[in-house]
Amino acid sequence: MLDFCIIGSGVSGSTIGYLLSKKYSVHILDKARGPGGRASNKRFKQNLSFDHGVQYISPKSKEFLKFIKNLCKKKEAKIWTGNHLDFTFEKKEISEKFIGMKGNNFISKFYTKKIKKSFQSSVKTIYNNKYFWEIKLDNGEYIQAKSIILTCPFPQTKKIAGKYLEKRISNLKINMEPNITIMLAFKNQRSVPVSSIKFNDDILTWAAFENSKNRFNSSNSLWTLQSSISWAKKNINNYKKNKRAENTIISKFLNLTGYKKNKIIFKKTHGWKYSYNLNGSPLKSYWNKKLRLGLCADWFIGPKVENAWLSANDLAKKIK
Ligand SMILES: Cc1cc2nc3c(=O)[nH]c(=O)nc-3n(C[C@H](O)[C@H](O)[C@H](O)COP(=O)(O)OP(=O)(O)OC[C@H]3O[C@@H](n4cnc5c(N)ncnc54)[C@H](O)[C@@H]3O)c2cc1C
Repeated sequence: MLDFCIIGSGVSGSTIGYLLSKKYSVHILDKARGPGGRASNKRFKQNLSFDHGVQYISPKSKEFLKFIKNLCKKKEAKIWTGNHLDFTFEKKEISEKFIGMKGNNFISKFYTKKIKKSFQSSVKTIYNNKYFWEIKLDNGEYIQAKSIILTCPFPQTKKIAGKYLEKRISNLKINMEPNITIMLAFKNQRSVPVSSIKFNDDILTWAAFENSKNRFNSSNSLWTLQSSISWAKKNINNYKKNKRAENTIISKFLNLTGYKKNKIIFKKTHGWKYSYNLNGSPLKSYWNKKLRLGLCADWFIGPKVENAWLSANDLAKKIK
C-alpha cells in the first residue's frame, strides 16, 4: 500500500513529497491542472505566460537562499533584473528578486519531476479506518494510503480534515486574505524600461511587466495586476458576475500608464480567495504520529513561498 498521499502540489506539497520520496512511496493529488498552487503560471499562447500568483522570491534564511541559488545554477531560476519602481516609498532592505526560468511554479516542477502525481484530482473527503486512510475524490475514485499530508490553505484543510484535527490546530486564528489578479496582453504597445511597479493606491497595488522577465520575445506586452487586500475583500465574492470590479482595476492601470484599452487582446481575472495570512502561528508544521496525519503549508509561518518550504522541511524532520 502507498505510504504517503499528499494533498496539494504547491511549494509545501512538492517539497514534502520530494523529501519523503527518498524513503517512502508517495502520490501527490492536486485539484488544479498543473503543479504550483499559488505559485502557478498561466499560459496565454505558445510560450507567453503570466505569473498570476507568486511574483518573486526574496529568501531570508540561509538554507532557503542556498536552495534557490542551487536552482539558479541548475538553470531553473534566475534573478529578475530591471527597474522595480516602488511608489509606496516603504523603507525596505534591498534584496534580490528570484523568479523561475520558465515560470514561478519552478520549485514544484523541480521537486515533483520523479514523483507520482495526479492533477484535476480534487479530494472530497478523507476517512481513517484505524488501519489506513481512504481518500475519496470528487470524481468518485478512492485512494488508500498509510499516511496522509494536507498542504492546502487553512480553511480548505479544516474542511477536509476538520474532524481529525486537535483543537489546538483547528482553533488557530489564521485569516487568509483574498486577492484579485488580472492578466492583460496588449497588442503592439511600446515596451517600457520597467519590470514592476508597486503602487500607493487603495485598489491597484502591483503591476508586473512579464516581458521584463526575458522568458519570451514578443511585440505583445503582458502585464499582471494585483489588487489590494481591502479592495479584494469587497469584491472577491462577486467579481465573476459583476465586471465592474475588473473594469475598475483595468481603468486604474490604463490611467497610470497611458496604455490604450482598444489594444487589449487578452484579459483574464483570477480571484484568490485564500491568498495569504499576514500573521503566522506558534507552529511550523503538524504531525500526528498516531493517526499518521500531517500538515504543512505557508500559513503556519507566514505569507511567503519560503515559509511553505520551511514548513515542509520541518514536517519532514518530525516524520523521520
Ligand atoms: C496573488 C498572490 C501573490 C503572492 N505573491 C508572493 C510573492 O511575491 N512572494 C512570495 O514568496 N509569496 C507570494 N505569495 C504567497 C505564496 O503563493 C504562498 O506562500 C505559497 O505559494 C504557498 O504554498 P503552499 O504549498 O503552502 O500552498 P498552495 O500553493 O496553496 O498549495 C496548495 C495546493 O492544494 C491544492 N488543493 C486545495 N484543495 C484541494 C483539494 N480538495 N484536493 C486536491 N488539491 C487541493 C491547491 O490546488 C494547491 O495547488 C503570493 C500569493 C498570492 C495568492
